[in-house]
Amino acid sequence: MAATTAQAPGSGGKRLSLTTQIMIAMAAGVVLGAIFNALDIAFINTHVVAGFLGMIGTMFVNALKMLVVPLVFFSLICGVTGIGDIRILGRVGARSFGLYLMTTAIAIAIAIAIATLVGPGKGFEMAGIDTSGVTGREAPSVWAVFAAIVPTNPVAAFANGEMLQIIFYTIILGVAVLMLGARSKPFVAAAEYMNEVMMKIVSIVMAAAPFGVFALITKTFTEQGIELFVPVLAYVLTLTGALLLHLFVTLMLILKLFSGLDPFTFMRKIRPAQVFAFSTASSNATIPVTLRAVTERIGASNSVASFCVPFGATINMDGTAIMQGVATVFLANVYGIDLGLMGYLTVIAMAVLASIGTAGVPGVGLVMLTMVLSQVGLPIEGIALILGVDRLMDMIRTAVNITGDAVVTTIIAKTEGQMDMDVYNDPNAGVAEDSLEIDEAAEAELAGLARPH
Ligand code: ASP
Repeated sequence: MAATTAQAPGSGGKRLSLTTQIMIAMAAGVVLGAIFNALDIAFINTHVVAGFLGMIGTMFVNALKMLVVPLVFFSLICGVTGIGDIRILGRVGARSFGLYLMTTAIAIAIAIAIATLVGPGKGFEMAGIDTSGVTGREAPSVWAVFAAIVPTNPVAAFANGEMLQIIFYTIILGVAVLMLGARSKPFVAAAEYMNEVMMKIVSIVMAAAPFGVFALITKTFTEQGIELFVPVLAYVLTLTGALLLHLFVTLMLILKLFSGLDPFTFMRKIRPAQVFAFSTASSNATIPVTLRAVTERIGASNSVASFCVPFGATINMDGTAIMQGVATVFLANVYGIDLGLMGYLTVIAMAVLASIGTAGVPGVGLVMLTMVLSQVGLPIEGIALILGVDRLMDMIRTAVNITGDAVVTTIIAKTEGQMDMDVYNDPNAGVAEDSLEIDEAAEAELAGLARPH
């Protein structure tokens, strides 16, 4: 179904938009996954789900990840050279950093407040939970995290996808290019061209999205049985409630307050990126989709978005912070330990710091949780309790994470005068998929160029 999305406008038969196709694929994946889970047939589980669908899902996530580094590189070069004034860039950096820290701190404070009110985990029976195999991690020192932003070897940074190092190096490169003035014109033109090429590759990968999303969701829901949720239902419900509250209320209030923009429009426009974040459970892999939604649908300039989106995917994790808040209160209740005010303040500080130093990839929230728990003296084996439900919680919190990134990016763009309000107010902006067809005349011309003379 996906390959048909490159329709010419007015080509007769009404086809479903790519977003609608992806939504349908997601719903179908949930239903089929639940059926497979209930049937529990070994052949299906091994060959169809883990085997075939696993392959499609992995290919799709790999394809998204394959885009991230070159896309961030070229769009950020265009962003730096396009912004014109270096001081603006410094201001965008400082303000987005401040806002990212603020949203994360608010998120975890709300999570702790809600979890303390609801009190999940009180009177919990520990028996029968296998706590072996859970190991803790030391929290990296905040100084070490900052020191590591400067790469010793940019090639290694690019090869390993070290996002903060890539951002740092690319900004320095962009600034140097600006300093060389008129001589840089060919380079800037080449970077702009490469940025367009990368966006085209995003379109190609997106055309496969309905299949990829279907495979990922079916696999997750086949593997996640309802029985996993029953023992920790209070945790799951409290966490989901806190995540949704942050998503629909706190973040939207922050958006309205700081930018004056209509939150309903914003929510509609960011939805495709949320769907990808939910399906992949990775803010990093979602960067190409978030970037596209924020620029083409919301109307933020590339100068702001190319910096704020990858920066946010790395340092801003509201949903993950909420999980850590709820999980800490839950485990404190399970073990009957009173953390006290100091304990909770430590949790807030730790969660904010941990989110700066860790990249947005699936499951990293649990690793960060081990740091938080050991800091406040809770047994890290407790994580075994919530391990079973973490995949689904990861999907929801990742959608919250990237929404936080997009909110901050939008606020910065609006307040810096880097926002196209016509795009924001146009419900159809960025909805029509661009053509994946190759123009025959151009093809012949390019083939001519390539032929030896
Ligand atoms: N999967 C999350 C993300 O990529 C991080 C986490 O909470 O595990 O944003």
